Amino acid sequence: MATTNAASIKAVGLLSGGLDSTLAARLLLDQGISVFAINFTSPFCTCTPKNASCASVIRAVAQLGNIPLKRVALGEEYLAMVRQPAHGYGRGMNPCIDCRILKIRKAHEYMREIGASFLFTGEVLGQRPMSQHRRAIELIDRSTGLGDITLRPLSAHYFPPTLPERKGWVNRDKLLALSGRSRKPQIALAGQYSIIDYPCPAGGCRLTDPVFAERLRDYFEHTATPRLHDVRLLGVGRYFRIRDKGMIVVARNENEGNRLRSLAGASDHLLEPLFSGPVTLFQGSCLDEALELLLHYALPKDGQPLVVRHKCGEEETIIPIPEAVQRNGKDIINDILAPDQRLTFVFDSFIVTEYVPRNGIPGVLYKHF
Ligand code: SF4
Repeated sequence: MATTNAASIKAVGLLSGGLDSTLAARLLLDQGISVFAINFTSPFCTCTPKNASCASVIRAVAQLGNIPLKRVALGEEYLAMVRQPAHGYGRGMNPCIDCRILKIRKAHEYMREIGASFLFTGEVLGQRPMSQHRRAIELIDRSTGLGDITLRPLSAHYFPPTLPERKGWVNRDKLLALSGRSRKPQIALAGQYSIIDYPCPAGGCRLTDPVFAERLRDYFEHTATPRLHDVRLLGVGRYFRIRDKGMIVVARNENEGNRLRSLAGASDHLLEPLFSGPVTLFQGSCLDEALELLLHYALPKDGQPLVVRHKCGEEETIIPIPEAVQRNGKDIINDILAPDQRLTFVFDSFIVTEYVPRNGIPGVLYKHF
């Protein structure tokens, strides 16, 4: 069917900056649709200077002819959803189905705001294990109630014609029937469209990372009211849970130390050693344990006084590391790794599920992620 008055039809597309959503937008632009992009960021994005998905979105928009872009930073509402997703988690703490539902609903709000007629995504049937198989897509459509106006141009032929196709705004014959995990067809299409600058497909957000997922699970277990601020801390350094007392983050390098300095909130305790050692942050009442861990990872030079700057809110004090803490600090990780401990390995990190400290009180004292 030929398209009719396509130029006056607006569509809102979820643009991640990856190749699939860029191609989906390209297909619709070629049919004369006015494409408006919406891009979401969350505290769980994996953006780093080397892998800046935010920069990828800017590049994608430029390659699409500088289409309008709306950026939405997901916050508390998203965190609440991650804590209690209606449709469960994937292999980590990734609630992909609820995540898609939330983003499509938000895109719909934007669609109404600008008077657009339909939504589209870069989803490819069968490409991602949790949210892109047929039952998941049908579930997402049922939950949003927007299935009839949610077009998936790359896999359109696997689904019944949507409203924009039935109305003739979009020519279904020019849409695609891609499916599965292979990316070869998309890469070939990118070549045809001269789309040359796109990121490698990422494996999802940080919620799919098993180590981060363990930290977040632990955080939810021990926190009545989760905060975005704390979630940002979970992505930095070595993370320790001290039973009944609080949590500790030890920086692994200078960058992480600076990150902890910039993230420290009004009620966080920041420890900056005045000798060669890692910046350490703790919450709760675990000063001694934090000092022990700081010292364990420190490399003080001979004769350097073991003194630390302790900041909390507006208060700042210089404190010496007590003798007893100095003794424990040398042994703390060796104790954790004693042969009778039960350890679960998660990549290069480990979780201690049982620990018997030297004072003889059994139980989980340190949990290290
Ligand atoms: S991987 Fe993360 S960002 Fe992607 S759908 Fe799943 S939860 Fe959402």
